[in-house]
Amino acid sequence: MRTVLICVAVCVLVILAGCATTEQAAQKGEIRQYVYTDTGLWLIHDMNRPAPAVIKPGVESTQDVAGKAPSDAVVLFDGTGLSEWTDTKGGRSKWIMGDGYMECVKGSGYIQSRRKFGSCQLHVEFATPSRVQGSSQGRGNSGVFLMGQYEIQVLDSYNNRTYADGQCSALYGRAVPLVNASRGPGQWQSYDIIFHRPIFKGDKVVKKATFTVLHNGVVVHDHVVLQGGTGWKGQHAISDYEPHEDKGPISLQDHGNPVRYRNIWVRELAD
Ligand code: MG
Repeated sequence: MRTVLICVAVCVLVILAGCATTEQAAQKGEIRQYVYTDTGLWLIHDMNRPAPAVIKPGVESTQDVAGKAPSDAVVLFDGTGLSEWTDTKGGRSKWIMGDGYMECVKGSGYIQSRRKFGSCQLHVEFATPSRVQGSSQGRGNSGVFLMGQYEIQVLDSYNNRTYADGQCSALYGRAVPLVNASRGPGQWQSYDIIFHRPIFKGDKVVKKATFTVLHNGVVVHDHVVLQGGTGWKGQHAISDYEPHEDKGPISLQDHGNPVRYRNIWVRELAD
């Protein structure tokens, strides 16, 4: 009984203290603002608001050593093997492994991830051939495809003129990068891509895809709305949106040039 009385007394004191605090805040003219979020209604600077998950960030790459993925990423390629990859028919890819990288083999076709993704953050590193051959679209051509179909161009665009909407880091045929941040042939380069998938209703696109892309750490697409597909339809024509599944593979293009890739990882995002 005595314990109960003490508890009641403590509760009353806490409530009174709370009232006093609120009253003091009101007297001081403090503003109390609330915000609606997907975890509920929260007071600004509310200590009870859920904190985000703690993860271990990755390690940056150098030219000599590939970096490491963040702890919550799906690692698609860490330089040790092609177990996460197939050819476009689900069979073993003919792309070859080198010391910590994979390399495109002419005529072998695209290589694609076994796992499928929709909206995501994607990190990819690539190197165009150090032995410079060809020009324009014929030099160090490959490509990173989201959902197996939306291409961010990979090309040797270091002193290599081509059409602007098809140079390195272009959303092929759709968007010119803000700057040309290319490194030289044979150098390792990176793409950090934030992609939100398109959403279809029946045969219509009701929400177009968006891309934010960093090329070697430099923003080259700043939340760009992709107006349609990126498939080559002719010298001066590009594909339109066509309805597809909610998830698709990450694909890398065989355009006949021995482009190399390393350190590929993905983090899924909400649409
Ligand atoms: Mg290409």
